[in-house]
Amino acid sequence: MSVAKENIEKEEESFRDRIATVDKSGKRKWIFAQKPKGRFTNWRNYVSWLFFIVFLAIPFIQVNGRPLLLFNIPEAKFILFGKVFWPQDFFIFGLTMVSFVIFIVLFTAAFGRLFCGWICPQTIFMEMVFRKIEYLIEGSASEQRLLAKAPWNTEKITKKTTKHLVFFIMSFVIANFFLAYIIGVKDLWKIITEPVSEHFIGFLSLLIFSGIFYGVYAFFREQVCTVVCPYGRLQGVLLDRNSMIVAYDYKRGEPRGKLKDKETLSLGDCIDCLQCVNVCPTGIDIRNGTQLECVNCTACIDACDNIMDKIGRPRGLIRYASENGIAGREPLRYTTRMKLYTALLLVLVVILSSLLITRKDVDATIMRTPGMLYQERGTDSISNLYNIKVANKTMNEIPLTVKLESKPGKVEIIGGGPIIVKQEGQGSGSFFLVLPRESIRDRKNIIQLGLYRGTERIDLIKTTFLGPVTQ
Ligand code: SF4
Ligand code: SF4
Repeated sequence: MSVAKENIEKEEESFRDRIATVDKSGKRKWIFAQKPKGRFTNWRNYVSWLFFIVFLAIPFIQVNGRPLLLFNIPEAKFILFGKVFWPQDFFIFGLTMVSFVIFIVLFTAAFGRLFCGWICPQTIFMEMVFRKIEYLIEGSASEQRLLAKAPWNTEKITKKTTKHLVFFIMSFVIANFFLAYIIGVKDLWKIITEPVSEHFIGFLSLLIFSGIFYGVYAFFREQVCTVVCPYGRLQGVLLDRNSMIVAYDYKRGEPRGKLKDKETLSLGDCIDCLQCVNVCPTGIDIRNGTQLECVNCTACIDACDNIMDKIGRPRGLIRYASENGIAGREPLRYTTRMKLYTALLLVLVVILSSLLITRKDVDATIMRTPGMLYQERGTDSISNLYNIKVANKTMNEIPLTVKLESKPGKVEIIGGGPIIVKQEGQGSGSFFLVLPRESIRDRKNIIQLGLYRGTERIDLIKTTFLGPVTQ
């Protein structure tokens, strides 16, 4: 290969040497993205309105007196669809996590970064809230660029101060809702309405979250997707040549060139107008191929479609497609692989949902008291001492009684009466299990104990009963 050709190839691939928002000297390049317009932008607007309604409404929705969703990480208490999950439900949590990872792998392999562009809160808040506020206060992308270069005159100071003030207020609002997902609206309301001194930690958390959101949306921006988000970083291994991505049809577009030269030089459909680059919020040129910065926001599809409309060429030079689809000039199809992955995803959702729905209201462990064998009760009975621990996941107190299910005998709860297990709390107690001597066959006997709330059996537990060695 000639040196010249090698240099050209190196130059063509040089965009892979660094991310689009960093220049050769390693300095951040600020992105002034043009406002996108078109059918995908419209649809993304509708989806984000739906997202905002759901995001803002969820903390206020109660199911059986509990929040619909609560992720109280400090207290290790999670509520999903009104059901409380405790550390004892760890296996469900573990399964959820594993299913979640499988879900992500399958979903991304089939549909690429559809999530990033359409539902990811980072993209939605950045593009649909903060970027729009910026257009409103600082004007279009070119006006923003001019303002950034302008000296600090009254206009610049006013616009910048207003923008950052509004950004901080919006970040504060988002932080309030974010905190509501962690501690619930009731506790959040206390932080808002009661003296700061009574909820200092809560108030501090609000300020810290507001600061983080403000920092992200005012300064860090697309860097979250490019250098922080683990999902973004994993795209290289999750995507393959059949995954659906936002792609440039190089077969149709190349060789690119100015519109005036199209006929004379037999050029492709790309007129090298750079509109797709100008609207990109991550500053990349999608014509270089799939890149880790691309969040599949579809802005470049709309920009290019508008250009195609203007020059009278069919839309879709940039479109949702797979790399193989572009190479083989095939339209995007709902392939067998996509169907299979969708079916697998549905199976996962069904398994998880049934696990969540059929989860028991109480979690009990019964163990013989360590270090004790059996006790002789007169000449005809043997007893064992047990400890019981119960986690009550319901909103009501449970007066718990224990009954022997599988053999004749009786249960003597120490202290008498039922074991009281407080709502959403834990209870413990001890009891003797007394069995007639003639019913004990082995040294270790399997028995079944029923846990009752009144007459309703709420759990059935197997344990062992130690007896004397029979001759
Ligand atoms: S917007 Fe379309 S025509 Fe213009 S440079 Fe991008 S791909 Fe080419
Ligand atoms: S390349 Fe297109 S889809 Fe990807 S981030 Fe840029 S504008 Fe969005």
